[in-house]
Amino acid sequence: MHCSFCGRNRDEVKILIAGNEGHICENCIEHAQQIISQELEQHQQKTYGQFAFSIRKPKDIKTYLDQYIIGQDEAKKIISVAVYNHYKRITQKVQDDIEIEKSNLIMVGETGTGKTLIAKTVAKLLNVPFAIVDATVFTEAGYVGEDVESMLSRLLQNCNYDVQAAERGIVYIDEIDKIARKQDNPSITRDVSGEGVQQGLLKMLEGTEVLVPPQGGRKHPEQKMIKVNTSNILFICGGAFDGIDRIIARRINTHAIGFNVNKDEQEFQRKNLLRFVNAQDLKGFGLIPELLGRLPIVTHLEPLDAATLKAILTEPKNSLIKQYTRLFEMEGITLQVDDDVLSYMVEKALEFKLGARGLRSICEHILTEAMFELPGTDTKALQVTLPYAKEQLEKSKLGLLKVA
Ligand code: ADP
Repeated sequence: MHCSFCGRNRDEVKILIAGNEGHICENCIEHAQQIISQELEQHQQKTYGQFAFSIRKPKDIKTYLDQYIIGQDEAKKIISVAVYNHYKRITQKVQDDIEIEKSNLIMVGETGTGKTLIAKTVAKLLNVPFAIVDATVFTEAGYVGEDVESMLSRLLQNCNYDVQAAERGIVYIDEIDKIARKQDNPSITRDVSGEGVQQGLLKMLEGTEVLVPPQGGRKHPEQKMIKVNTSNILFICGGAFDGIDRIIARRINTHAIGFNVNKDEQEFQRKNLLRFVNAQDLKGFGLIPELLGRLPIVTHLEPLDAATLKAILTEPKNSLIKQYTRLFEMEGITLQVDDDVLSYMVEKALEFKLGARGLRSICEHILTEAMFELPGTDTKALQVTLPYAKEQLEKSKLGLLKVA
């Protein structure tokens, strides 16, 4: 009798296991085991390779965010720390019974101030799956709309159904303010959109095993479900919370802040109320305390002023002007935009109240004509001057909008 793999005789080995047509010794089994684990590891690396994430120190996260997001220093700092702690919590083994809780967060700020951009940029830096979902599409079970679980379908879709990667991803829930409980709910039966959805979110934000319909939408009995554990998924919520300044003002006044400060300071505080926002104000706005308990970190984004908007046009790593310059460069055309054109764009964006989001459509309207006419001609340079920009914008839809 001998091992059919290495040929060793019975007396040369300790164990010889018999199979149908041959034998295998303990040495060969051990060897085979090593090969199996190596192969499996390589296979796993291949599948996670795309999402081999690495944690960064808070300062590094902030520095990276600075390249893409102008201003919003406080929000960037708070988020860098929260994200760092969150991923530290995931990667470190529990040594004693001190369990670090999840640091989901909520951002309050007008539309177009960079909330989504911050969340997206963090996910990109850490190389984790990311999904943006809109809180308004969710409804309580039993009503027309999507189940809250479908936000995880979105996350799974974005990482090719790699469950392990999805389980440490980031979900950005936009318009969280729209599911606030309404004080003056016109429905006398039940509040369909608000509180029920908030209740539905609770378990998910805290961390639980959720059965997710792979294609999203409503769950139905025959569907195959994917099990996802949400304990390590970071949830970032964002909302404009229109009118929250009144709630903040009321609270601050009752706490007598501002009595001892001078008029200018009072005026300053009145204008910058958002920076004082806390969970209590969000509760006043209609988010239920249980939900707020699961979103322990509250931060705010400043409204964008003219100087910031102008910086947004040119400074970020992939700023609009840099993008258009590249587009023209591909046609062999050098684009130059005069400084007063930038100021004009900002002025218009403020006028249309579109925030930074408006800058894109303004740029597009000013440059469309040139992007249509110039390719294929031997023009080598385009200088956008103020009269040209004004002319282009005024004859565009945006211009007409203003006239009307
Ligand atoms: P919201 O706060 O509504 O989520 P977004 O993050 O979607 O706003 O911002 C819309 C767009 O405006 C972004 O894609 C980005 O181009 C631009 N933007 C907004 N705020 C900033 C900022 N602080 N720095 C750079 N770009 C910004």
